[in-house]
Amino acid sequence: MTGNPKHGTVCIFGTGDFGRSLGLRLLQAGYEVVFGSRDPKNNSLVPKGSKVMTHAEAAQMARVIFIAVQRDHYQFLTSLTSALEGKVLVDISNNLKMGQYPQSNAEYLNSLVPGASVVKGFNTVSAWALQSGALDASRQVLLCGDDPGAKQAVVDIAHSLGLSAQDRGSLRAAGEIEDIPLQLFPMWRLPLWITAVLCLILIPYLIVYYIVYSYVEQGQDNIYRIMLSLPNKLSAILSLTLMALCYLPSSLAAILQLHNGTKYKRFPDWLDRWMLCRKQLGLIGLLFAVLHAVLVFVVPLSYSYEHGTASDIVDQIRENVTEPFENLWAWRSESYKSLGVLGFVLFLLLGITSLPSVSNTLNWREFRFVQSKLGHLALLLCTVHCFLYGWNKFLLPSRYRWYLPPPYMAGLVVPCVVLVFKLLVLTPCVHYRVSRIRQGWEKPRRRSTANATAANATVPTDKATSL
Ligand code: NAP
Repeated sequence: MTGNPKHGTVCIFGTGDFGRSLGLRLLQAGYEVVFGSRDPKNNSLVPKGSKVMTHAEAAQMARVIFIAVQRDHYQFLTSLTSALEGKVLVDISNNLKMGQYPQSNAEYLNSLVPGASVVKGFNTVSAWALQSGALDASRQVLLCGDDPGAKQAVVDIAHSLGLSAQDRGSLRAAGEIEDIPLQLFPMWRLPLWITAVLCLILIPYLIVYYIVYSYVEQGQDNIYRIMLSLPNKLSAILSLTLMALCYLPSSLAAILQLHNGTKYKRFPDWLDRWMLCRKQLGLIGLLFAVLHAVLVFVVPLSYSYEHGTASDIVDQIRENVTEPFENLWAWRSESYKSLGVLGFVLFLLLGITSLPSVSNTLNWREFRFVQSKLGHLALLLCTVHCFLYGWNKFLLPSRYRWYLPPPYMAGLVVPCVVLVFKLLVLTPCVHYRVSRIRQGWEKPRRRSTANATAANATVPTDKATSL
């Protein structure tokens, strides 16, 4: 392999975990690999076919040098400045926490070796993924640097390793790239906060409505309901509310665009952030919907449920009466269950099509059809399911315990708002106006305000057009 390298020679400083894993992949891709090490004789762990030499010797062998050394040890590079003159130094280092140093590692390296071209990159790929070949989750190499030729050399290497590369601009972007591996589920933070706030409101509500009220007013001990029945109600309300919260921002965006008369005005930050995390909101909603679907089957198996049903039958026998078959109740029961099942299946479909492996096979129109049209249909079915479940409970004064309405009504608030907004947006005059705005039409303004807006206008985002 070393005798006839397909691509040329690449140098790696450091024979640690990352250096060895990268070296192995480079050898497999047809590169000749030379390691620069403090101890060239201790080379038993490096991949077969590579060479180990001193840093100065290794630097002479290749134009591109990966610095697979922790930032704290970069000082040794100052003694190699002449050997590194004109070389491409790839800074792959990560830190232990964000903002650990005032300067990014790549900019620090640049200041130590000003004669070299520093490129930040490969730090989002792990040594384990390189070695095992399990690169699905980190197939993309983000890079940045001030020298386009140096960046191209690194992009070429990434491509020959089967990775894709994304240029993030000048070396000033290095800090941002260094922060990426330190982020913990950034897109999930807001949806998890929303879910937590909803839980904090709903759980006490359910406990007061179903447990505390019965204990205080009727002397009944219903605390056991906290195990199955209440989680079932909570998951139903949460899944419906979270699903609706996925669709609310697109209606709000349409209303804002109508109000602004243009799509070229930025949305407020909170709306931007909300729109960006709709997928995660939907997936959490789906999780609760699955929980609700499972609990619906489990609740009838519980002792309290079986006891209640048996008592009813015994009461009828004792009193020698048979409850007549109510056709209306049969309709209501069958309808709310079938709508719930249909809505759940559509919700599952939405979740499946949001997976990258599935969404990548759909074109934009197909994706929009599923996520927007079928999504709203799923919301409508689940909302009607909830209405039919509640039936006329909202009319019965006995259902208002301590003036609190039945909890299912809480689950209907956001979905109803979303459906009303959607209906408004679908009315022909509004729909026509929104469509025109999204195609670039702008409301004519008075000359002075038009000039001011043109000066402040920001480039339209994909989100603005993709609703
Ligand atoms: P490592 O296993 O600790 O290896 C670092 C290597 O640096 C050592 O094997 C050593 O090689 C060299 N070294 C140690 N002290 C030195 C000193 N005082 N002067 C000069 N060289 C010294 O670390 P690693 O996991 O390979 O990580 C290397 C770099 O890659 C780090 O900056 C890390 O943030 C980054 N990174 C690692 C991963 C990963 O998955 N491991 C992923 C992305 C980025 P010699 O004994 O041959 O000199």
